[in-house]
Amino acid sequence: MIQLNNNELQQLTESISKSLFNKPFKHKAYFNNRLRTTGGRYLLKSHNIEINNKQYKFYGKEAVVEIIKHELCHYHLHLEGKGYQHRDKDFKSLSKLTGAPRYCTPIETYEERVNHIYKCNNCGKQFKRIRKVNIRKMVCGYCNGNLSESID
Ligand SMILES: [Zn+2]
Ligand SMILES: [Zn+2]
Repeated sequence: MIQLNNNELQQLTESISKSLFNKPFKHKAYFNNRLRTTGGRYLLKSHNIEINNKQYKFYGKEAVVEIIKHELCHYHLHLEGKGYQHRDKDFKSLSKLTGAPRYCTPIETYEERVNHIYKCNNCGKQFKRIRKVNIRKMVCGYCNGNLSESID
């Protein structure tokens, strides 16, 4: 598991915006290591999207994709002058339509959706995933050790 860089995050955000929202993402998406409680945030002033890089480290790409979807809901609604806050009707219907999580704290919501827990045979670190992964292909992000699925 290799950390996504900002370039790849930018491309990922642009492609999700295009395929899911049918609109271009024309601003910047980048990792911010200092985010603590949220998986990401949309900045009203710059229109940029910041993603917590712990999200990727702990939960993988699919968790980052979930946050990007959520932040893109804020982004597109805000730019179009529609209700872009969590409580707004526009926000609720767009997040439903795109399958984006409705809240900014997907670290917690992701946790609740975890179905598979993998443990590194070498260093013992745990990895949580919503979907099953191929443990013959995926290795530990910390030490490259082999993983095995564990059940709580
Ligand atoms: Zn939000
Ligand atoms: Zn390991």
